[in-house]
Amino acid sequence: MEKHILSKTTYIKGVQCMKQLYLTKKYPKLRDRLPAERLAIFSRGTNVGIYAQDLFPGGIDAGPKHYTQYQKAVARTKELMENGQEVIYEAAFQANRTLILLDILLRNGDKWDAYEVKSSVKLSRTYYNDAALQYNVIVNSGIALNSFSLIYINKDYKLDGDINIQKLFIITDVTQDCIKQQSFVKDKIGEELLMLNQDESPIIGIGKQCFEPYDCDFIGHCWKGIKRPSVFDIPSIDISRQFVLYNKYGGLPNILQNEKSIDEFETIEMNCQIEKMPHLDLSEDTLNDFEELYNSENQKYAVKILYFTPALPLYSGTKPYQKIAFAYSLMPLDGSGNVELFIANGQNNPNEEIFDRLLNDSKNIDLLGYNINTNYIEVLDLQQIVDNGEYYHPAMNTDYSNKLLSKAMDIRPQWGAIESDIVAAQYYDEILRGHKKSKEKLSLIKNYLQKEVELVGKFFDYLSQ
Ligand code: SF4
Repeated sequence: MEKHILSKTTYIKGVQCMKQLYLTKKYPKLRDRLPAERLAIFSRGTNVGIYAQDLFPGGIDAGPKHYTQYQKAVARTKELMENGQEVIYEAAFQANRTLILLDILLRNGDKWDAYEVKSSVKLSRTYYNDAALQYNVIVNSGIALNSFSLIYINKDYKLDGDINIQKLFIITDVTQDCIKQQSFVKDKIGEELLMLNQDESPIIGIGKQCFEPYDCDFIGHCWKGIKRPSVFDIPSIDISRQFVLYNKYGGLPNILQNEKSIDEFETIEMNCQIEKMPHLDLSEDTLNDFEELYNSENQKYAVKILYFTPALPLYSGTKPYQKIAFAYSLMPLDGSGNVELFIANGQNNPNEEIFDRLLNDSKNIDLLGYNINTNYIEVLDLQQIVDNGEYYHPAMNTDYSNKLLSKAMDIRPQWGAIESDIVAAQYYDEILRGHKKSKEKLSLIKNYLQKEVELVGKFFDYLSQ
């Protein structure tokens, strides 16, 4: 069997942007370095598929053990089907130089039912597109397919004792949608294969497709001609409007001069980007909050709380992707003591323990945080100052996250250090599952907790000057 050219991943890249597919296949070295946040999101759902296999127990895994063994996996799947196997996991099929892997294949009389597992709580259009491609390849490789279904996570499922697989997952038959999409899929495969035969990349300008449905891997390459700062560095303007303004006016000075719809907030961000200067103008309300804080006899502490959102519920009474606090740090703002760090061992639901401890520790003290995300304890959240447009720094060119606030406050991350909550959450999840580098990951989380309360302290000092 000839080696495949397209896979589900590369086909979908081509649906998003033909140039992305071309660069992926011909110039993979131009790909951007994958940010740790995206890696964390990718790895979040990896064990969901394994759990879903229990819906159809007794299967044999036909998947390739190495990326050079895809065609072997196709032959192995065929052999298992011919030898009377009822359930096959990671079944491989190839047709029209396109290869797909299917999570679960189930014999149904003299036909077959196909199931693909998604680690999500809802089905997006992209999942239907994936399914339509898989349906196409399976049918064109000569299999009598009875149905195609998507399996995804029931967001309302509440863990009570052991996981009940039947209640945890929802199965939706998408066969009719797959059939409706077949002529599009057939044409698109043909178009992609033809394009990949060309000597030059298709000429496609930047556009919304660079971020939808996924961030493209070649933004660094395709966007390098955009003169910075640009309207794409203005986080208060959504991506659709950014493109409208960019195509109409080009650079920021032109937009500021000619576009009537630019509001005060957007004007501030544009001027900050052009002049490379921060903006600070605290409102009456914020000044009153600060006044109250200065007049309070309580000691002032910076606080950071970390949460994780396990795809599959780990603790009784919790639901899939429920936000659970697992760690916090506290730092006196007058420099009178050490940072207090607490990371729950996670054997029981740590949420209650975290907030009980915090409530206890925070008696008679005033707390300040950044993007603190809780109603359990009273905290003055400094992010509201940023959200209200009272503070802005040109380093915040995509959002107002703590990661970019760190840049704004000139705090440089050490090599390999955690830079965002989502990565800390992923590491904690891995520690609970017994990752072999748990010790190193725990130490990185501790460093992150320390750095984050210092960030709150530094930002508060800056605002107080
Ligand atoms: S960055 Fe945009 S234009 Fe370039 S390949 Fe990706 S999606 Fe296509």
